[in-house]
Amino acid sequence: MGSLYQKFVEAVLYPLDVKRRGSHELELLAKLERSQWFDPDLLHDLRLGSLRKLLDHAVRYVPFYQKRFAEAGFDINTVKDFDDLKRLPILTKRDIQEHRKELISTFYSPDDLVENRTGGSTGSPLVFYHHKERLDSRQAATLRHNRWAGYKVGCKTAILWGHQHDISLYRSFKARLRILLIDRQLLCDSGSFSEETLSQFTRDFRRFRPEVIVAYANSLGMVVDYCTAKKIELPGPRGIITSAEVLTEETRAKIESYFDVKIFDRYGSRETSVIASECEAHDGLHINAENLYLEFIEHGKDVEPGAVGEIIVTDLGNWAFPFIRYQIGDMGSPAESVCRCGRTLPRMQMIAGRTTDFLCAPDGRKVSGAALTIYLAAKVPGVRQAQIIQRERTILIFNLVVDRSFDQSSLDLIREKVTHFFGEQMQFVPNYVDTIPKEPSGKYRFSICELPLMEMTH
Ligand SMILES: [Zn+2]
Repeated sequence: MGSLYQKFVEAVLYPLDVKRRGSHELELLAKLERSQWFDPDLLHDLRLGSLRKLLDHAVRYVPFYQKRFAEAGFDINTVKDFDDLKRLPILTKRDIQEHRKELISTFYSPDDLVENRTGGSTGSPLVFYHHKERLDSRQAATLRHNRWAGYKVGCKTAILWGHQHDISLYRSFKARLRILLIDRQLLCDSGSFSEETLSQFTRDFRRFRPEVIVAYANSLGMVVDYCTAKKIELPGPRGIITSAEVLTEETRAKIESYFDVKIFDRYGSRETSVIASECEAHDGLHINAENLYLEFIEHGKDVEPGAVGEIIVTDLGNWAFPFIRYQIGDMGSPAESVCRCGRTLPRMQMIAGRTTDFLCAPDGRKVSGAALTIYLAAKVPGVRQAQIIQRERTILIFNLVVDRSFDQSSLDLIREKVTHFFGEQMQFVPNYVDTIPKEPSGKYRFSICELPLMEMTH
């Protein structure tokens, strides 16, 4: 498709706006569009070069890492490959909260820094920084991954976003003008959905006829439920990008069949921008590998392809506030073999699972059972395997396979995690078992939620 106006925006208005902003995103985008097809060895060398520069910068200008490298006996000159990073400790959210000032590179003046923060529903927000160039490369990477889903600069896009901060960015007059003329966006704050706002959104949507939808997976799921119930037909877009929430198989199927178009799922974070996303092969998510290095670990070691591990991110491009081996708090699994699309960027899978693999906090939040059980098996002494069953809103039953090192402190650790994920109200009951049976499919289920579906969706 692509209207004449879209082409005009892409070829003329947008480049002018980029120039006015002094951004390098278009040059960076052109580079990324080439490097996604690079020979794997070439891509590897490119990334290793970026890692070396990052480590060099960190040891020269970032007090936190000067201290940390020294304590670990880590000499950056001995780094031969990515595996050498394993000699460094993990960077936790707590490290960032406690050492924010020492994590800022002294190379940059405060004017060069852009503040950012996570919105997160759990715990206090995380405040961090980027330098201006990293914002350009973040924007370029987002554009590249959007383009896989059929997005073109200047095409009409509907955005359903639940993060107030992102929405308020668009409020100034100049920004609104840009949205109207260049970005051509229909914005919707899905954080405050009601019958009235949903109805308004569907009317706006029919008038606007977006070519691409970018949405929180569950927000778009709600729109589809609403339209199905009210028998409202929305015009189908060319592509749908879902992000920011785990996309369950049911939600994916529901949205894809309603719009008759494939979803391009995305995994991103505020700390690092787009981390990985689906290409047209829809077979795992390609990692934004020129900008990020990902590890998938369990007990400090890389997991095998296909196995689930904790995701550790190194942002190769953020020198102002380096994230080196950052524990982002998500679980995923590395994929092997080359993608049918021909892109050489490595791939990964997120843990999706079924709706019933999510547990429900008393305040209504959904919590990935997989993330919690894997955490327990990896971090709590004596826990060899765990499975969580929820039959009541405020009680979790933990089926535990334990060994002799399991004791009161292990129980305390579990209590702490339960409170962290579900709040004070949630009780837990340990149930010691010899084995955790597999499903008939041969798969092992991390968690099973037996709450009525009605209750789960509230
Ligand atoms: Zn692919």
